[in-house]
Amino acid sequence: RIMVRFHNIQKTYSNGAKALINLNLQVKRGEFLFVTGPSGSGKSTLLKLLYGAEKPTDGKILVDGTDLAKLKGDRLSLLRRRIGVVFQDYKLIPRRTVYENVAFVLWAQGYTRKEIRRRLIPTLRMVGLQDKAECFPEQLSGGEQQRVSIARAIVGTPPILLADEPTGNLDYDNSQQVIKILKKLNSIGITVIITTHDEHLVRMSDNPVVQLREGRLFHML
Ligand code: ADP
Ligand code: ADP
Repeated sequence: RIMVRFHNIQKTYSNGAKALINLNLQVKRGEFLFVTGPSGSGKSTLLKLLYGAEKPTDGKILVDGTDLAKLKGDRLSLLRRRIGVVFQDYKLIPRRTVYENVAFVLWAQGYTRKEIRRRLIPTLRMVGLQDKAECFPEQLSGGEQQRVSIARAIVGTPPILLADEPTGNLDYDNSQQVIKILKKLNSIGITVIITTHDEHLVRMSDNPVVQLREGRLFHML
């Protein structure tokens, strides 16, 4: 069963930059896929097209069988809820606690306080931050902040998790910890797509890898 499908995707930005060129890719449900490639090769663009932050210049993207271009309004926001996103720079709200940063997603979706509490505890435990719920982001290490952002991405139980250079600002041990959590999430059925320019991280893993070079995609072993 195919979860994500890119069909003949072209992405040219308005300044003329060709970020993706005739890209075809299928990601199976439950897969853990690494997207590698040097800086500027199109990795972020690939994820942005998936979570709807950019639109393709040409071609078609299907998520769980649905053509992204055909989704508007409510149906588009419903689909976005089915895709969790983790960024290199965490994007946490500075004056909110860990608990609030993660709960915010559920508040915005109209969950009750009781339901939020019911979901928050196991989610924070999953990323090892159950004791940091009342901390503010600036009181946490980089690795911990990234784990908050993972908690925020998964608290709504999306079937797809996208991580854009999630280890880009982390040292070796914290990077390993983040990968371990992403693999644990994958093992409970979440489809994970992670971009990284860290060849070492990719070599250590036995997951499928695709590589971008100047906007073109190559399938590795
Ligand atoms: P990566 O994530 O691999 O570093 P990106 O997807 O960010 O690569 O960028 C791919 C190419 O598209 C680069 O040449 C970059 O300069 C260009 N690009 C990315 N975002 C924009 C944008 N918003 N406007 C114009 N060009 C962009
Ligand atoms: P790392 O070396 O992984 O970046 P740190 O040395 O920054 O980790 O943090 C180690 C521990 O100290 C973490 O558990 C973090 O939550 C805590 N910590 C770091 N900075 C502060 C701070 N300003 N206030 C309270 N706790 C902090």
